[in-house]
Amino acid sequence: MTEDVRDVIIIGGGPAGYTAALYAARANLNPLVIEGFAWGGQLMITSDVENYPGYPEGVLGPEMMNDFRRQAERFGSEFLTDDVTEVDFSEHPFRVSVGDDEYRAKSVIIATGANARQLGLESERSLQGRGVSYCAVCDAAFFREREVVVVGGGDSAMEEAIFLTKFASKVTVVHRRDEFRASPIMLDRARANDAIEFMTPYVVDEVLDTDEARVTGVRVRHLETDELETIPAQGVFVAIGHDPNTELFLDQLDHDEAGYLVTQPGSTATNVPGVFAAGDVVDHVYRQAITAAGMGSMAALDAERWLAAQHGHPDAALAAPRT
Ligand SMILES: Cc1cc2nc3c(=O)[nH]c(=O)nc-3n(C[C@H](O)[C@H](O)[C@H](O)COP(=O)(O)OP(=O)(O)OC[C@H]3O[C@@H](n4cnc5c(N)ncnc54)[C@H](O)[C@@H]3O)c2cc1C
Repeated sequence: MTEDVRDVIIIGGGPAGYTAALYAARANLNPLVIEGFAWGGQLMITSDVENYPGYPEGVLGPEMMNDFRRQAERFGSEFLTDDVTEVDFSEHPFRVSVGDDEYRAKSVIIATGANARQLGLESERSLQGRGVSYCAVCDAAFFREREVVVVGGGDSAMEEAIFLTKFASKVTVVHRRDEFRASPIMLDRARANDAIEFMTPYVVDEVLDTDEARVTGVRVRHLETDELETIPAQGVFVAIGHDPNTELFLDQLDHDEAGYLVTQPGSTATNVPGVFAAGDVVDHVYRQAITAAGMGSMAALDAERWLAAQHGHPDAALAAPRT
């Protein structure tokens, strides 16, 4: 066991975790960031990010996350590139374990993000960022006047399909059932859109590419007849849901039905005083780097204020207390 008790441990090294680290480090809280093996988070599997302010020419996802990490490091954040395996928030200081090593902290910020569900095809994995996407808001503009496929049958698939018609010339929604999980209003809206075509009950058999390793189409299989068909497309948007990385916390922290952590309105505080949560681990609505980063800064400010209050001088936090 490590004897030191940290002011703050941040779990997760995506936009939320690194921003929390930057703010915490600049408030002299000497944060330890346990960033996970997948440090950098979801943006490590994308190419161009064009909607993050401050990069007028756009930036590669991994390059941006390197910038985030270096900026947090510059002010003294320490990093551990490993996965947290257990947490104990039942007593203070909190305990955070990485295998046999245990770390203790007065406060913890959880920023473990979420993962977009994947189809599980090798061709999908190898074409991520080369035509395969999991975020229409992020990537639709790259498909101006192109044909794209959306996979899924829920509200987010309909939302992505409708949004994509602002750019793409044709959107084909591929869904494995004839019935849709999407709400009737979203389904009606998608069905009323002339640029959207539906193919059911089909599953994606393979994402097709050329020698230049860019998507050129999708081979789909009819679930009843096994018949194969090819849909020409330059983009594939997989919209079959997200899973928050919250397994470690579910028995200790309030969460919703889908497993997203629940924080108090207008704050990053969880139901355990001193434990805060930020980014996609709480957010199933916006899911953007900028919103995750914004929540990361909130979590560090909340932790700083909370620690100051524990030490008996709530007004001493560097940031002014909110009313
Ligand atoms: C392909 C793709 C493209 C995208 N493009 C854009 C875009 O162009 N613009 C945009 O704004 N958004 C984009 N997004 C969304 C954006 O990436 C997310 O909203 C953002 O990364 C969320 O940040 P986060 O810090 O909450 O979590 P994440 O980025 O998910 O990071 C989570 C971190 O937690 C760590 N972690 C998880 N479990 C553990 C554990 N047990 N122990 C320690 N660490 C752990 C992981 O290693 C990772 O470092 C895209 C997403 C995807 C999937």
